[in-house]
Amino acid sequence: MIYQDFNSCPLCGAYGQMPYADCTDFTVSRESYILMRCPECGMVYTSNPPKECDTSKYDKLDLKLKLGDSPAGLIHKLYYYIRLRMLSRKAHIVESQSYRTGGSLLNYGAKTGYFSHKMERRGWKVTSIEKYHEERLFSLEMFHHRMFDVPEMDRLHPETFDVITLWHVFEHCYDPNGLLDKFYKLLRPTGILIMACPNIRSTDAMHYGPYWAAYDVPRHLWHFNTTSLSELAHKHGFTLMHRERMPFDCFYISILSEKHKRHKMAFLRGILYGFHCWLVSLAHPDSSSSMVYVFRKRQ
Ligand SMILES: [Zn+2]
Repeated sequence: MIYQDFNSCPLCGAYGQMPYADCTDFTVSRESYILMRCPECGMVYTSNPPKECDTSKYDKLDLKLKLGDSPAGLIHKLYYYIRLRMLSRKAHIVESQSYRTGGSLLNYGAKTGYFSHKMERRGWKVTSIEKYHEERLFSLEMFHHRMFDVPEMDRLHPETFDVITLWHVFEHCYDPNGLLDKFYKLLRPTGILIMACPNIRSTDAMHYGPYWAAYDVPRHLWHFNTTSLSELAHKHGFTLMHRERMPFDCFYISILSEKHKRHKMAFLRGILYGFHCWLVSLAHPDSSSSMVYVFRKRQ
């Protein structure tokens, strides 16, 4: 396997790195990956991920369940239940933050298309970008919603979209700087960019250390907190307007982290610790396991 070598920091461009954590791919390969921290700006990133062209063996495809089906296994059931509950919350975030009840939306990294479908049903004109053929096919068969492969995004016209969304996608992208430039061009002057990412300053990240499931190496390349993501977006013409917690991710992530630690009764322990994280995040939203960020274009 040939590895990508991120020598310089994607945020500030500085050379030189400090070890941050030694993580394991608990889900697929059991390989070790070292997280590095930029000594200049504090950005944390996976230092030696596989090259972008070699990622398929590491990727976890989305759960493909027809509406009304129930997945097998407690963790998958919980994940699926939370994901369906979150669709309405995501729709609310889009409409309340854009001050629109319809318009044009680009959903980047659309996976199996549940969110795209939800927004289409609410009257939005949705364009979806998804790199996996299997996911695009599922969306077409399940929702009759045609998604586009990543290179097709270059054919979209500038200033086309009122809203661009990335739900737990940006941390997977190999060229975050190039992507933010593209989003800036594609958004209308009053448009907004919404990104949800895991939060390395969360209560659960601090508690679980290298076992924290949302490090998810080598699939997650960039490990953001509010400061690093807002500074990166600022470099590309965006201003952070709003942020809020994703309230339920702490349960799913805590259960998975307990499993990584091979604790007995991982499910129960994860639920209990997830509840603790959820309580803390009520008072301190920046300690939430995952955060949603809303950016506007600077004029
Ligand atoms: Zn840096």
